[in-house]
Amino acid sequence: MKAYRSSILYFSPAAAPQASAVLEDDGLLVVGPNAQGRQVVLAVGPYRELQPRFADLAVTHWPGRIIAPGFVDLHSHYPQTNVIGSPAEGLLPWLENYTFPEEKRFSSPEYSAQEATFFIAELLRHGVTTALTFATSHSSSVNALFQEAQQQQMRLITGLCLMDRHAPVDLLNQRPAAGLADATEQSLIDSENLLQRWHGVDRLGYAITPRFAPTSTDAQLRGAGELAARYPEVWIQSHVAENKAEIAWARELFPASRSYLATYADFGLMRQRAVYAHCIHFDDEDRALMRSTGAAAAISPTSNLFLGTRFTRCWRRITWGGKGRAKPVCHSRRNSSGGSTRQVPPKRSGWRGWWATCCRAAKPILSCSTPKPRRCWPARRRWPITWTSCCFR
Ligand SMILES: [Zn+2]
Repeated sequence: MKAYRSSILYFSPAAAPQASAVLEDDGLLVVGPNAQGRQVVLAVGPYRELQPRFADLAVTHWPGRIIAPGFVDLHSHYPQTNVIGSPAEGLLPWLENYTFPEEKRFSSPEYSAQEATFFIAELLRHGVTTALTFATSHSSSVNALFQEAQQQQMRLITGLCLMDRHAPVDLLNQRPAAGLADATEQSLIDSENLLQRWHGVDRLGYAITPRFAPTSTDAQLRGAGELAARYPEVWIQSHVAENKAEIAWARELFPASRSYLATYADFGLMRQRAVYAHCIHFDDEDRALMRSTGAAAAISPTSNLFLGTRFTRCWRRITWGGKGRAKPVCHSRRNSSGGSTRQVPPKRSGWRGWWATCCRAAKPILSCSTPKPRRCWPARRRWPITWTSCCFR
């Protein structure tokens, strides 16, 4: 066992997430192995109360510092680490000029391993200890990320990117060198093989990962939904309703669905453990669909700001609302140029709300260690939401 004396931030499971952060000015944290040999928190609280229980334990004293739980990142793209911040005029030019060329490099297991090592190191350096992230359409990228996360004992969830149309040919899911399966069938076979290899191993989890509806055929989305039904314990991740051009495209491709979001529901891809990035342009029926299915939203303010996408309505309507009263933890508005957004600090929730949204609020979505997670949510919560470090598709 080890003991640390310092200021300590932790979360009270009895309180609503945005009010549950507790800052103990003079606290004691005791960690040690559990029955499986994994390091866990054995005790945390005021130093004066806990110290007598651990009087024989040497204490490392860190005055002037704060010990806090690791951040939980609900949406990122590890293959895009090298192109973060590159200039772009919007989502589609970004994809064509930067994202797709970079993602092609992940067909190489060696390059995938190199980037996975850097990505995981960067997450940990920034305090992120749990992440749900995209890989590419190459199995090598998924294997490399899982291997590195396992090595670093991270809680990490990822999956093969499903993409069988509307992208460069060499980035689409590929048909096998031998055999009768086409590329779509093979992508689903590969997903299931990766799922069976990695899901539940140590702290790793698998996510069925259609990139976004327009880059998958009906057959691929249907197969992904069938996979999700066979494996209810795994996650689903994708993107939805980031900008209006994308929405119009999705509506053209899936005219039978009521909305872009409803397309995912129609293919069996909305349920508990489904996490959708962006969720900006929703109507009331979309919001009702999120509530009824138990899907979660991952808001990406960094990419929304970078690409000039608005997210005001989303923030106003889906955060921790009381009955008939939205209480935004954050909102944005267009600047004078009208082309981008700027973020306004929360007025009501303060640092507790920010920290809870970045950390504790995401844990039930990824089934982390928060005890009895359903009791952690306000009784009138709408649907789970948190925000993420980066997403540029
Ligand atoms: Zn994304």
